Amino acid sequence: MSYRRHDALDKKGAEYWHPIEVSNNEEIIVLQEKKLQQQMAYLAKNSALYQQKFAEAGIQFDDIKTLQDLAKVPFTVKQDLRDSLQAAPPFGLHQTAATSDIVQMQASSGTTGSPAYVALTENDIEMWNELSARGFFACGVQPGDFVLHGFSMSKGFVGGIPCVQAIQYMGAIDIPVGADGGVDRLLRACADIQPRVIIGAPNFLLHVAAMAPKVLGKSANELGVKQLIVGGEPGGGIPAIREALETAWGAKVCEMMGGTDLGVIYWGECSEQDGMHMICQDHIIVELINPETNEVIPFEKGTTGELVYTAIGREASPVVRFKSGDHIIVTDTECGCGRTGPKIRCFGRTDDMLIVRGINVFPSAIQDLVLQMQPETNGVMRVLADFDGHTTQENLKVLVERGANQSKEHDLELSEKIQKTIRDSLSFKAKVIIVDADIFEKPGVAKVALTLRQTPDFL
Ligand SMILES: [Zn+2]
Repeated sequence: MSYRRHDALDKKGAEYWHPIEVSNNEEIIVLQEKKLQQQMAYLAKNSALYQQKFAEAGIQFDDIKTLQDLAKVPFTVKQDLRDSLQAAPPFGLHQTAATSDIVQMQASSGTTGSPAYVALTENDIEMWNELSARGFFACGVQPGDFVLHGFSMSKGFVGGIPCVQAIQYMGAIDIPVGADGGVDRLLRACADIQPRVIIGAPNFLLHVAAMAPKVLGKSANELGVKQLIVGGEPGGGIPAIREALETAWGAKVCEMMGGTDLGVIYWGECSEQDGMHMICQDHIIVELINPETNEVIPFEKGTTGELVYTAIGREASPVVRFKSGDHIIVTDTECGCGRTGPKIRCFGRTDDMLIVRGINVFPSAIQDLVLQMQPETNGVMRVLADFDGHTTQENLKVLVERGANQSKEHDLELSEKIQKTIRDSLSFKAKVIIVDADIFEKPGVAKVALTLRQTPDFL
């Protein structure tokens, strides 16, 4: 393994990073099924977790030969991995490579308790680099670019070191400040080095842009940034946030998505800006399921569902039929860029989903509506889920910041207007409470939590 792919610089200006991105479906299926059989044989030999799971389900590893066969395998959910990690720390019963072959570990940014640790061999790291390079390349990073790093660099979060490595691998230069380095430092680096690209969480990059006049005495759109690549939360796919980012920075926005359990980036948006392409078919089998029935459904334009991933060719911490918790809509299956992987937008995660009188509600969908109601609102909201679990039979409480310089006199009118918009667009009843502008914490290193579990002091 080396820092940089040997032919990285030759790819400048190319239409895609790897030929698999434009392969036809038949070729991809042949390759996936071959690698699936190899992976099953590898797991049969090395994975205590899957030996156990397959035995419990009464299935044999060598029965799983095709993509259709894969549907016979039970899902792996986050709790399975937590139990596995606890049973055999630090890497769990699903560690399948010798510890002497493991050269790196990473951790999921878990919201509660211990993070989930994953192990990587040298080959796994090279695979992660390759997949992330495809994602970054689709999103507009070119070899030779300076890339300002606005994701968190610490805590073992995959937006940190693995992204640095992937950017090196593709012949670009990472400016490793990180969200943890602070807004001032990021903006100074931006003014000094004039990167063409910035990567980071969308809400955080909006905040960084807002601080530019104060820190640098000029606005973010004067800094020469051409491309923003956002991920880690749904904001990049929310039209109002995307538009605000493009205006604030004078740059194009593309988004990417992945995770920690399979890699870093598995989905990258091309310059058509109409959703993120699957770009990893040779290393990850992705299935779309109906989250209510768990049935596999085809990737067709307009379909919604939850993503399920199977690693093929992973050495250290492979998972099979891992339920990602990412809920997506297929925006298209064809694209002018030539890539053949389906295009998606993610509209929420299972962890964030609330059920209000039987209706599934994602806080990001409410945020989208509130953002469109500027300047009457400040575009900032929180759901107040002051009940146990995820289900309520009451009207859902939503706190919305009043727009800056807007009078309190119109609060009642505004809350009724937002309640009506929510009812019309999202089919559930909300109780909207208007609060002062800038009362909620600004986005920083951590993801923006749109849901509050306790009533804030000011109410
Ligand atoms: Zn495309």
